[in-house]
Amino acid sequence: MTASDQRNIVIIGGGIIGCTTAYYLSRHPKYSTENTSITVLEASSIAGGASGKAGGLVAKWAYPKELVKVTFAEHERLAAEHNGAERWGWRYTGCGQWEGRGEELEGGSKKMDPDRSLQKKEGLIDGDSEAPLSGSTKGLPRDLDWVKSNLTDSYAPMARHGETAQVHPYLFTTSMIELAQEKGVKVVYGKATSIGYSSDGAVESVTYIQDSESHTISATDVIVSAGPWTSTVLPQVPISGTRAHSITIRPSRPVSAYALFTEIQLPDSAQAVTPEIYARPNNEVYACSPGDGKPMPESTKLVEVDEKVCEALFAQVASISDELRKGEVTVKQACYLPNVNSGPQGHPIIGSVRGSKGLVIAAGHTCWGICNAPGTAKAVSELVMDGKITCGKLDKLAPHNFF
Ligand SMILES: Cc1cc2nc3c(=O)[nH]c(=O)nc-3n(C[C@H](O)[C@H](O)[C@H](O)COP(=O)(O)OP(=O)(O)OC[C@H]3O[C@@H](n4cnc5c(N)ncnc54)[C@H](O)[C@@H]3O)c2cc1C
Repeated sequence: MTASDQRNIVIIGGGIIGCTTAYYLSRHPKYSTENTSITVLEASSIAGGASGKAGGLVAKWAYPKELVKVTFAEHERLAAEHNGAERWGWRYTGCGQWEGRGEELEGGSKKMDPDRSLQKKEGLIDGDSEAPLSGSTKGLPRDLDWVKSNLTDSYAPMARHGETAQVHPYLFTTSMIELAQEKGVKVVYGKATSIGYSSDGAVESVTYIQDSESHTISATDVIVSAGPWTSTVLPQVPISGTRAHSITIRPSRPVSAYALFTEIQLPDSAQAVTPEIYARPNNEVYACSPGDGKPMPESTKLVEVDEKVCEALFAQVASISDELRKGEVTVKQACYLPNVNSGPQGHPIIGSVRGSKGLVIAAGHTCWGICNAPGTAKAVSELVMDGKITCGKLDKLAPHNFF
């Protein structure tokens, strides 16, 4: 092996996209610790952003379709290979749209629903054979045992059995990086500040700050997967962040596996609220509100949590379920959803940057980053190790379509 055969791959960002990419690179047939080094550079903590605080829905009806085709099967394969059911809470789940009325709670039910939808339901627009079921059925499925039937106006299933699943995002992301580390991937804690290029435009280094000191590592390939912070590393990339709050609740008894997109009419309000509620294994229920306009801080550690939004969210979900009302709130948190502001709507940016040899972007996964991480990571590992993506037709996601 000559020095020119040595690959030094640097992944910027230790969220689900960066960690899963590290995993797939470390499983690629051409990878060996003899000829390739892989470093994940993380500014704060692994899965400290949305990747540790998301709901974790994984759906065949998510978008973009071409990526979902790759990713759903990969989630199933990873879960089978690494016992995902035990390790990261993998399971299939029921999923539907619930509309109804909330009950008056002690102290009044809380309105406070900020106005930016997380847009998961846009997945319903696609009209191919794998599209969700349409039409409303009144009444709840018999096994959906934790919302009140007398408050239900309509329930519409969003998919057939086996088409919606879930993972625990924090456990999935940390498992990916642990499995990657077992194969020699390194994690370095530091904030990337710039990428260095040679005179012919190829990447050659990444500079980062660690404990107020600047360091530079050499790189033959740089994958930028800094989620909503991607444009702080590459200003030309049109990605921004939207804050969203979430809570977890230990219900008063274990509840059945359903993810609900709700529209709740509260007694004291003219406008409905729309929290998403996901039952999880291990007697946990996750709920999140739509996003708000709070500007992004410098790092995941500085994200502000507004207690009032979390309290309002609890009051909303408690208003339709005794099991949640009598339950205990175990976590109140907030994080930033990565948005892509131009190009094909709601699509992440995945691919090589023209004119910058060795520079790859894998970011902007909007509300489907947990679902689309394995598909993204598989594609990026092929791009970096083989020079082209063969697992799917992902040309539409290439950076030149966005900026
Ligand atoms: C409330 C909510 C619920 C959601 N629910 C779901 C769901 O059910 N299903 C689904 O598929 N998706 C869901 N999502 C979307 C999903 O969480 C995101 O798309 C996904 O987590 C994005 O992952 P990421 O790795 O790109 O970004 P992030 O998780 O934001 O990770 C980026 C990482 O990069 C690091 N970083 C930033 N700048 C630098 C730098 N300069 N140097 C080094 N590191 C840096 C950060 O510290 C961070 O750790 C949800 C999102 C929200 C907000």
